[in-house]
Amino acid sequence: MSHDPNCIFCRIVAGQIPSRKAYDDEELLAFHDIAPWAPVHVLIVPKQHITTLYDVTDAHAALLGRMLALAPKLMLELGVVNGFRTLINTGPDGRQEVQHLHMHVMGGPRPWARG
Ligand code: 5GP
Ligand code: ZN
Repeated sequence: MSHDPNCIFCRIVAGQIPSRKAYDDEELLAFHDIAPWAPVHVLIVPKQHITTLYDVTDAHAALLGRMLALAPKLMLELGVVNGFRTLINTGPDGRQEVQHLHMHVMGGPRPWARG
């Protein structure tokens, strides 16, 4: 599995940086965002290093599908029953700050800090 030692999310996946985990399997990790926009704000990341959505190919289709399918399950587990937002930022104009593909999943009662 590709791992970039300079990538903060690869380091979280490797357990080198602590995180509050919400889900873990062979391919995916979900953890709580350090600066949440909403009462519940998790990031779902592939464990392999994929920089952005621009780097995705058809070979990643199942992985992306699993990321999306995990979101509602995770939200229900975390008590989010009234809806949530999913967001993937890509590249500079998409305001992607961390260069490891991740999906924001945000939910919980309004008002939110952002979003
Ligand atoms: P982006 O702008 O790249 O879509 O979002 C990156 C997200 O990662 C931000 O919401 C930011 O708060 C979160 N983040 C950055 N560094 C860390 C970290 O070390 N731990 C956790 N849990 N979240 C982080
Ligand atoms: Zn990475």
